[in-house]
Amino acid sequence: IKKYGYQPCVNIGTAGHVDHGKTTLIQALTGSWTSVHSQELKRGITIRVGYSDAAFYKCKKCEEPLGYSTTPKCNNCGKESELSRVVSFVDSPGHESLMANMLSGSALMDGALLLVAANEKVPKPQTKEHLLALQTLGIQQIVVVQNKVDLLSYKEALVNYQEITKFVKGSHGAKAPIIPISAQSGLNIDALIGAIESSIKTPERDEKADTVMHVLRSFDVNKPGIKLKDIKGGVIGGSLTQGVFNVGDEIEIKPGILNEKKKTYEPLLTEITSLGTAAGIVESVKPGGLVAIGTKLDPAMTRSDSFIGSVIGKPGTLPENSTLLKLEVNLFDSAVGVTEDIKVLPIKSGELLRLNIGTAPILGKVTKVKSKNIEIELRRPACIFEGGNVAISRRIAERWRLIGAGIVG
Ligand code: GDP
Ligand code: MG
Repeated sequence: IKKYGYQPCVNIGTAGHVDHGKTTLIQALTGSWTSVHSQELKRGITIRVGYSDAAFYKCKKCEEPLGYSTTPKCNNCGKESELSRVVSFVDSPGHESLMANMLSGSALMDGALLLVAANEKVPKPQTKEHLLALQTLGIQQIVVVQNKVDLLSYKEALVNYQEITKFVKGSHGAKAPIIPISAQSGLNIDALIGAIESSIKTPERDEKADTVMHVLRSFDVNKPGIKLKDIKGGVIGGSLTQGVFNVGDEIEIKPGILNEKKKTYEPLLTEITSLGTAAGIVESVKPGGLVAIGTKLDPAMTRSDSFIGSVIGKPGTLPENSTLLKLEVNLFDSAVGVTEDIKVLPIKSGELLRLNIGTAPILGKVTKVKSKNIEIELRRPACIFEGGNVAISRRIAERWRLIGAGIVG
């Protein structure tokens, strides 16, 4: 806390089948709907980026898990609590499937909540696919949330709990705590916060390394009809994985924007004019949760998340833009299907795949296959870090399905 103040220091993702209560839970933890964007737009940079941040407090007097809350007043004894940590919930925007959103966000997740609705059969296809994705992408810190227990009797809830235990056995989730809650009625939220605080640790990060920020959203914070002199530059939201940014820093954004004439992407250079976190406007940001940077870019350029997938660093420090992706791949035996699992066939030269590189979803054509090593020609350039983890999806029966992952070589 001394180190971070109110800047969120960890990114937590939400995973799980549609309708199992992810949005409701985030609302219970943050007091705001993640799916409402219009209101945030009106209020500008900090609110817009901080909309899914939560502050966790711990009462010194009350025993765990009773003392955990999302307000500085203890829910149990009513006395004042201490700030434990500020966390960001990563819920990446986009119009594609839940899976695609999950994969884009996963590049920034330090841990994840896997939601399972207690009143449904275990597991639903997306629950299974999301857990597989977390595992494949190396997200080890997981808390399993058994939601909607208000719909069941105590006995039924226990049976469901056993089913969940069986399901996560042998996966990254095996050691994860399983916390029964009702997101809707706010039941057992204190125990959930306690589990998050003890199971999802803030990773050590290198603040001295060259700064790298992965972009999850970008927007225009100006109200329609604003006077020209009051216009604010484009705002970009995401997380730093290493290094720091200060107001006044020159930055480079890659891959940048398409030069229509030259048919190439050109990196953008601009300056940081403001920095925002859940704590409000700040002078500098560290690696950790979601932050927003104000720039001198034309706000029309950053409208509607147009910069999702970009990477930002100090000029000259980021990898060159490239359309060639070399991967050492690890394929699953089977992909998760709607009714049954589908055998994953080897990757073939010439086939189209969808790659999640950092926070960027990009299509690419396989140009070379040599056992586990493949080469892909991307449809558009990306800023690719060696050693990075890339999720690989293939179109099976009308849908992109995760078939494995690769390491950039
Ligand atoms: P998401 O698709 O995973 O984000 O799920 P939502 O948060 O949108 O929730 C889906 C539906 O389940 C909504 O109608 C919620 O009101 C309901 N719901 C969420 N949590 C609970 C809960 O704890 N108990 C009950 N009974 N309903 C819930
Ligand atoms: Mg939702």
